[in-house]
Amino acid sequence: MTIKEEIAKITAELPSGVKLIAVSKFHPAEAVMEAYEAGQRLFGENKVQEMVAKQEVLPKDLEWHFIGHLQTNKVKYIAPFVAMIHSIDSLHLLTEVNRQAEKVGRVINVLLQIHIAHEETKFGMTFDECRALLNEGTWKQLNHVQICGLMGMATFTDNMEQVDGEFAGLQAFFEELKGNWFADDTAFKELSMGMTDDYPIAIRHGSTFVRIGTLIFGERNYNK
Ligand SMILES: *Cc1c(COP(=O)(O)O)cnc(C)c1O
Repeated sequence: MTIKEEIAKITAELPSGVKLIAVSKFHPAEAVMEAYEAGQRLFGENKVQEMVAKQEVLPKDLEWHFIGHLQTNKVKYIAPFVAMIHSIDSLHLLTEVNRQAEKVGRVINVLLQIHIAHEETKFGMTFDECRALLNEGTWKQLNHVQICGLMGMATFTDNMEQVDGEFAGLQAFFEELKGNWFADDTAFKELSMGMTDDYPIAIRHGSTFVRIGTLIFGERNYNK
């Protein structure tokens, strides 16, 4: 299937309230443009340089979602245009995003990334680290970031029961935070989980953003 056909098929199947982020990392701007022409507007990238390069040459009504590990010294490059940062994993990073957002006169939407996989290679806070960040309280004074919810990646495995358990855990944690810290905050409503191999499971557990790359654009070539 072409990029256009994949976008149309996935979009038609998504329940209302679930938004598709087309993960275009490692694919050229032309591929993004093809998705754009199919009506796709939300795109995900995991490298600052690549995202900035594409943003410069592509239409300005595209929504850029940053989904990779973010170094504090690079926040300034994406602060002027990024729609949402899904990968906040420390108060230090949240504070820097707030600082750079203030400089450019924006409020940047962010998600707290939670480590739910049983793999050391994945980033994110543990449930306890996240509770500690919220308990500590500084985040409430950061007026140039809006915490919109949580993001997580399941373990890379064929064991779908395990993936199911990890997404269920993140959904339960989302409800805990909603109840304890964000009960009156209508912006706290997003759950970013699910990729090519596991997004139907994520949707069953309340995902509002699925981040799909391979299914839309094909395999990534990491050797380029
Ligand atoms: C690459 C990536 C995706 C997309 O993965 P696919 O398996 O190609 O759909 C989703 N989320 C994050 C954080 C990624 O880095």
